[in-house]
Amino acid sequence: MKAINGIGVSPGISIGKARWLNKTKAVATGGLLKNEEDILAAIALFEAAVRLSVEEIEALLKEREASLTEEETAILETQVELITDPQLNDDVLALIRVDKKNTNDALLEVVTNLVELFENMEDEYMRARSADMKDAGDRIWKNLHQYQNNAQHYESDTIIIAQELTPSDTISMDLRYIAGFATQAGSSAAHTAIIARTKGIPAVVGCGVALNDVNEGDLIVLDGQAGEIYCNPDDNLIETFGEKRNRFIQINGELKQLKNIPANTTDGVKITLSGNIAGVDDLDAINDNGGEGVGLFRTELLFMERASFPTEGEQFELYKQAALRSKGRPLVIRTMDVGGDKDLPYFDLPVEQNPFLGYRAIRICLDRPDVFLTQLRAILRASVFGDVRIMFPMISGVPELRAAKSVLEEAKRQLSLSGIPFNAQIKTGIMIEVPSAAIIADILAKEVDFFSIGTNDLCQYTLAVDRMNSKISYLYDPFDPAVLRLIGFVLDQAAKHGISAGMCGELAGDPLATKLLLGMGLKDFSMSAAAIPAIKKIIIATGLDDARHVYENVKQMDNSETIKAYLRGL
Ligand code: PEP
Ligand code: MG
Repeated sequence: MKAINGIGVSPGISIGKARWLNKTKAVATGGLLKNEEDILAAIALFEAAVRLSVEEIEALLKEREASLTEEETAILETQVELITDPQLNDDVLALIRVDKKNTNDALLEVVTNLVELFENMEDEYMRARSADMKDAGDRIWKNLHQYQNNAQHYESDTIIIAQELTPSDTISMDLRYIAGFATQAGSSAAHTAIIARTKGIPAVVGCGVALNDVNEGDLIVLDGQAGEIYCNPDDNLIETFGEKRNRFIQINGELKQLKNIPANTTDGVKITLSGNIAGVDDLDAINDNGGEGVGLFRTELLFMERASFPTEGEQFELYKQAALRSKGRPLVIRTMDVGGDKDLPYFDLPVEQNPFLGYRAIRICLDRPDVFLTQLRAILRASVFGDVRIMFPMISGVPELRAAKSVLEEAKRQLSLSGIPFNAQIKTGIMIEVPSAAIIADILAKEVDFFSIGTNDLCQYTLAVDRMNSKISYLYDPFDPAVLRLIGFVLDQAAKHGISAGMCGELAGDPLATKLLLGMGLKDFSMSAAAIPAIKKIIIATGLDDARHVYENVKQMDNSETIKAYLRGL
């Protein structure tokens, strides 16, 4: 049987039923409601979407009160009026009740009619309202689908099929029921793939149009290692993959036996293996796999499953939980890293030509000190409950780092004034993920307590390869000598200046890289929890002299293919 081929980005075998996630196109589906129960559910769905849309705008008005112009405020207020307009409401409800149209179709029809109505008005001012009406309709539609996805009751062993998945799609699903992901677009370094690995869900991305052959409810076999998908396979194939799945589970089980063995090299050098998390619950998997703390807490993913920014109190509770559950082990909390492929529905990020080179991460935080201070105060307050550390993402130079540190000082000052306890000596570090930061690692090392190398972005920026773009993913290669040189330089400079340098990019969890990284001097690895046992197995079988020899050999090689072939042969 012919497989649909893609890129395997999260290993494991899953067998389950396909469910298409349709969200990108606002098109009528034609589906009619069958009974009173359906009608009531459709009305509830519409009302929830309206409520969410209003809450979203109100939160925006509140948070940005100081920075919004009068005109922007007026636009947002008009949106609230249009969203709650009785005519829109009555027309949608009539189509649902009388014509038995589903919520999506009813909403689209009513909004189209209203937009047309405005467009044909004599009065110029009223004509201009058609754009506002369209905007309001889009907002409700987006929330309708967001809400539907969140509220979706997936059956167990569902395999999500989509054109593309964003981190906020995956983060808002109840992942207990999801056995796998398959997407037409996507790449291994995109955040959706990273989240799948963090959650241990097999995933195949970049399958292209071949995925269109998959219908809702089809039986799917997905191999997240080989990057293969089989649609409605015969019994033989199901049996073969069932056995493969059992083997995978068995090998993983064996690896987990290493849980309580320290990750020392054969010559007794202690290596720290910690985990990357996207939420407090991910801590369990780190403990299960023998991780020794959290090297990267991607806090922005917490913000994505909500309708508005979490308050300082809400964030404090989450960070405190994470600190308590870390039981004294390090917990590196990275400040909000939105932008790029990580959107916040309520944040109104601008549409940009190059989002990864644009308004992202620390740049947003420095532009929005209100948001930044709130998060820093919450982290500081949690710092008395464990070994909490702060990490700034996407630092590109000294002025930016100093600006971030001064906001941190302001947060400390405010807490001190209010008599709120925090760890005044909290360790503060930065991600090294922009080439300019790597190149001046010697200078930056004097300013911080630690570095953590983010190979995902470092690779994209060094090689000028968009980490999301499946068309050029063949160029995205952290084994490229240019990337390795930067990593080597950062590790050397950190050692020279007496600060620690870890790695939390995906390369840290790639078994092919482990010996090389050890040879380069890396001692702190942070990765998705599921990757920890396999990396530990390699470390405990490696001596540092051997590893250094590997590094010396790799330094002589001029391209990633040669390097990877050599590492595979070790
Ligand atoms: C990185 O860039 O390597 C990293 C760990 O951060 P993220 O993947 O969240 O951008
Ligand atoms: Mg990054």
